[in-house]
Amino acid sequence: MSDSHCATRYVGRFAPSPSGVLHFGSLIAALGSYLHARSMRGRWLVRIDDLDPPREIPGSADSILATLERFGLHWDGEIVWQSKRHDAYLAALDTLRQQGLSYHCTCTRQRIGQLGGTYDGHCRHLALGSENAAIRLRQTRPIYTFEDDFQGQLHATPELAEEDFIIRRRDGLFAYNLAVVVDDHYQGVNHIVRGADLIEPTVRQISLYQHLGYPQPGYLHLPLAVNAHGDKLSKQNHAPALPEGDPRPVLLKALQFLGQTLPENWQDMPVDLLLRWATDHWTPALMPRQDAKAPADLTSAFSK
Ligand code: GLU
Ligand code: ZN
Repeated sequence: MSDSHCATRYVGRFAPSPSGVLHFGSLIAALGSYLHARSMRGRWLVRIDDLDPPREIPGSADSILATLERFGLHWDGEIVWQSKRHDAYLAALDTLRQQGLSYHCTCTRQRIGQLGGTYDGHCRHLALGSENAAIRLRQTRPIYTFEDDFQGQLHATPELAEEDFIIRRRDGLFAYNLAVVVDDHYQGVNHIVRGADLIEPTVRQISLYQHLGYPQPGYLHLPLAVNAHGDKLSKQNHAPALPEGDPRPVLLKALQFLGQTLPENWQDMPVDLLLRWATDHWTPALMPRQDAKAPADLTSAFSK
């Protein structure tokens, strides 16, 4: 592996799923991870998480990458595409299987729903075959808490921490948690900056790092941009695309959302200079704390 032997160099990443255009919410994740990596004099990688073909929108990966370029968010190295990483996921599944750390499960979503949503380990000892079955991790290293570099100490419920979660879906698709851990390890990513919507799966991902014997990265979860209803800005709830034209006003909005100080003379700064300024002044501690029930409405700035 190319970069990971240089253990002390910071390696961060942005890993969008190609299920729509880059909107303000994903720009926050891109910009926050970029500024953090650059302020650490680190590398910033981009990976396209095209793991789930049915949820993909054709052309959106290219559009996301073009938008990153337009906003001056230039990445290092080659882009990794999850659709080309299936062999690596199979190898990881094999490693887990050989150590008795996984098993097949034929439980329906309906059955788990009746249990209240948390899987009860029903198939753990049934030695079921692969037919029409998902693969679950045999959870031997539940993670109940982790330290987040912005949010502080975070805690998971025992139900979440101890659940034998799915690592390969019944329909054959690889599970998100498996793929991100295998890929972040492969890419040498040692610090993950992403939106607070991904706090929940983090304990599962840390337990996968441990089961696979990979060194664990650090985590920093950014505040989340939400709409007037308090919902996360997402492709599912039709967050608007970022406006065309001069990217700097949008970058300023994003910096403002992240609580950062803004340069007074930004009008005189080309995008690259603005980003350099923002990198030099990047202070995560200034970001807003989001316990409040109704964070600011951020969609209005961009709706047509
Ligand atoms: N591809 C995931 C998403 O767009 C993010 C992966 C990650 O940051 O762990 O939600
Ligand atoms: Zn089962």
